[in-house]
Amino acid sequence: MSKNADADSLIAFLNASPTPFHAVETAADRLLAMGAIRLDEKDAWTLKPGQTFFVTRNGSSIVAIRIPQDLSRPRFRIAAAHTDSPCLKLKPRSPDPSANYRQWGVEVYGGVLYNSWLDRDLGVAGRVTRLDDGEIKSVLVRTEGKPFRIPQLAIHLDRGVNENGLVLNPQRHLQPVLGLTDPVGLGSGGLGLGFPGAGGRTLEGWLEETIGVPFASLAFELHLYDTSPAGYGGFDDEFIYSGRLDNLAMSHASLEAFCREGLQPPATGAIQVAALFDNEEVGSTSAQGANSNLLDAALERTLLALGLGRDEALPALARSHLVSADMAHAIHPNYPEKHEPYHYPLINRGPVIKGNASMRYATNAETATLFRGLCDKAGVPCQDFINRADLACGTTIGPHVAAALGIPTVDVGNPMLSMHSAREMCGSEDHGMMIRTLREFFRG
Ligand SMILES: [Zn+2]
Repeated sequence: MSKNADADSLIAFLNASPTPFHAVETAADRLLAMGAIRLDEKDAWTLKPGQTFFVTRNGSSIVAIRIPQDLSRPRFRIAAAHTDSPCLKLKPRSPDPSANYRQWGVEVYGGVLYNSWLDRDLGVAGRVTRLDDGEIKSVLVRTEGKPFRIPQLAIHLDRGVNENGLVLNPQRHLQPVLGLTDPVGLGSGGLGLGFPGAGGRTLEGWLEETIGVPFASLAFELHLYDTSPAGYGGFDDEFIYSGRLDNLAMSHASLEAFCREGLQPPATGAIQVAALFDNEEVGSTSAQGANSNLLDAALERTLLALGLGRDEALPALARSHLVSADMAHAIHPNYPEKHEPYHYPLINRGPVIKGNASMRYATNAETATLFRGLCDKAGVPCQDFINRADLACGTTIGPHVAAALGIPTVDVGNPMLSMHSAREMCGSEDHGMMIRTLREFFRG
């Protein structure tokens, strides 16, 4: 253990969560450990003041809610983040071998930096489903050891790559190599190219062994992930290096703030909510994304289960606040010209408030003031980010949820570099500062 317990806790969460399915399972375990009750959207809910509970949808989104004792003037304080990250997803069937390589086709999920996936030790993780007595059963899987690889073309075969840049076609150039069709050499077909070799372990075989049914009866959502564990970097451990920091870092900060507040639940105050959504990286439109009715339904059902009607639900929403927490771009030392010269965040200098005139971020002056006040209360510094006016701005779940629920929203995040790379980096000190600020938010 290092001296930074908050960063240690984030690193453990990252290592346990190679996919959104694993992240939600890890979050559910954390909530159960602090005494929360698991509810199911398919059942009727009975709730009492003072309870903490959570629901999941699709196994990849989760909403946790804590009810205060006093509900005379209900309102919500919601911290929201996303569980998914750009990655390469396996297609349903393997392609024919190229020469004697055993490979598997991939689709691109979200805004992947293709080059960052080359020459890394990759694993496969996700969920596999099968029918069990007519019921659909899901199992989380993860390859351990035996890493796979997407090999980059040697410079001798791509002489202009350093001058012209690396151009990768996702259909042809990102297929991982899983092994050889004849791993022992000459056993199953000699040295000829293009033969249909019969030897070697296969992904199909591994899935059949793990799940216990024939490959033809399985379906799956499997991702490639970088098997190098998350860890500290820099002379003074001032950085964290990991895949999926965008946005497991803010998912973890929202969840930790929520769980730690549960140790001394307030009698009065807001209904506290931590909402972690899948599918932000592909636009949030899915049954479990931020564009779905997941949060809306969870909030409404909470009030109904407490005996409050729609005439109380709508004012409750109007009295509420949302913090949309998603990672932010720190200034890049080698590309300072890419940043707005007066609004660039620095690593380990505290949470960032993100604004955009076109409302790609949901922040307005009032919600920015609210968040700045929370940072003051938590005793942490606070930074501002806007994009250069001549560059297109990214977005978050903030505008989607703000529009759907009509809740005033602030978009915030911690500064990071290499966003959407298979291996990103952020500050180890910023993480605890965000947790402290979100705890102040829940208390408001
Ligand atoms: Zn993000």
